[in-house]
Amino acid sequence: MTFTNWAGNQSITPAETRSPSSPAEVAQAVGDARRQGRKVRMTGTGHSFTGVALTDGILLRPDGLTGILSVGDDTVTVAAGTPVHVLNVELDRRGLALANMGDVTVQTVAGAIQTGTHGSGRSVGGLADQVTGLELVLADGSLVTVSEGDLFDAARVGLGALGVVTAVTFRVEPAFLLHSRRAPMTFDAVLDALDAYTLDNDHLDFFWFPHTDRCLVKRNNRATGGQHTPGRFRTWLDEVFLENRVFEVTNRVGARFPAVIPPINRLSGVVLSASESADTAYKVFTSVRDVRFLEMEYAVPRRHLASALREVRALVERSPWRISFPVEVRVTPPSTAWLSTAHDRDTAYIACHVYRRTPNPSYFAAVEEIMTALGGRPHWGKLHNQDYTYLSGVYPRFTDFVALRNRLDPDRLFGNAYLDRVLGG
Ligand SMILES: Cc1cc2nc3c(=O)[nH]c(=O)nc-3n(C[C@H](O)[C@H](O)[C@H](O)COP(=O)(O)OP(=O)(O)OC[C@H]3O[C@@H](n4cnc5c(N)ncnc54)[C@H](O)[C@@H]3O)c2cc1C
Repeated sequence: MTFTNWAGNQSITPAETRSPSSPAEVAQAVGDARRQGRKVRMTGTGHSFTGVALTDGILLRPDGLTGILSVGDDTVTVAAGTPVHVLNVELDRRGLALANMGDVTVQTVAGAIQTGTHGSGRSVGGLADQVTGLELVLADGSLVTVSEGDLFDAARVGLGALGVVTAVTFRVEPAFLLHSRRAPMTFDAVLDALDAYTLDNDHLDFFWFPHTDRCLVKRNNRATGGQHTPGRFRTWLDEVFLENRVFEVTNRVGARFPAVIPPINRLSGVVLSASESADTAYKVFTSVRDVRFLEMEYAVPRRHLASALREVRALVERSPWRISFPVEVRVTPPSTAWLSTAHDRDTAYIACHVYRRTPNPSYFAAVEEIMTALGGRPHWGKLHNQDYTYLSGVYPRFTDFVALRNRLDPDRLFGNAYLDRVLGG
């Protein structure tokens, strides 16, 4: 059965596909792969844009390995293939919640943490930073549980290179409401307020509309008052109709007539107006993403954010490209996971998107050049051109990760072409 990712830019037909429903069945598949001289990997929901999940050997699907395994006062253990949105609902039913997450929650918990999926947060980082324990099947078929030490810090963002994760334990907290303020601002006003906004808000997230001076700034903070939402129609209008249906149509038009993109972006900056609401945290963190796109995202030291954005804007302004998707900016605190893009530094994320039907490798390559000069680290699941030589220079624990991989998987049972490139074969 052919595996194709969400964006449709990666696909492969593996020798065999299985849906293991227990760690023992995962270990069986790993043993079979070894005996047959094949590779083996588990995929999530295919939401990575890179080839990180691909294998031509035995491809393990996540759908048999789902569900809540145990819940404590401040932790939850879930099977690795559980979608993040299912975890959110199950936690909410129990009066609990994850402290932070990304824009969408269709990913599996293991797939999300393996590439370092993150949202925005002043004091709470990406999903891997909320992990307190992992259960994995290693290349020798053994099942291990780790909650500290080198394997724990390496395997939380492990790119599927160290083992097949079978269960993940997350730190959780009492369910909370988030007060969300959304406001249009000019590019310069946002950059002037950047330090204050980052310090004063639990979750700062903003979008710059290329070819314009306009940004949409989202500030989310723990709510002290009650729930108040804009109403179902307004929510549908903003999140489904304007951000998806109309956006799909404008992208199609923009693909045929690129000259209309700048005026459409100017209009978008006006139509997506100021709003305020307070709702269950996971509902505020997440959005609907129906319009298919390709994405590159870089993590740069937080102190370089303003200059990096100015360079990106200058690049777009002097280029012939017409970029219909906003550039998204988020921040996180330092992470202890060795291959987290936020490892050991206050981090800002700059994400560039293009409509799937109009790939623009020159845009991504030119932005990548700016990010590379700043010691940027590409998201493992999003498009980039970096290899071992560059990456080993921007992660202090990179060679430790590779050494651990050499010890645990010397035959590269979990290897693939993407890992050969980024981890060095
Ligand atoms: C619409 C959209 C929105 C997104 N939003 C964000 C965002 O807000 N923030 C962000 O940081 N990223 C975001 N991403 C990127 C996405 O979160 C990551 O690429 C994530 O890894 C996808 O999870 P998945 O379940 O689809 O895993 P896949 O892409 O299928 O796999 C990712 C990696 O995990 C490995 N893996 C999966 N399961 C296991 C397992 N059980 N054991 C070992 N390895 C395993 C795979 O082999 C692969 O290496 C977005 C992507 C899309 C398409």
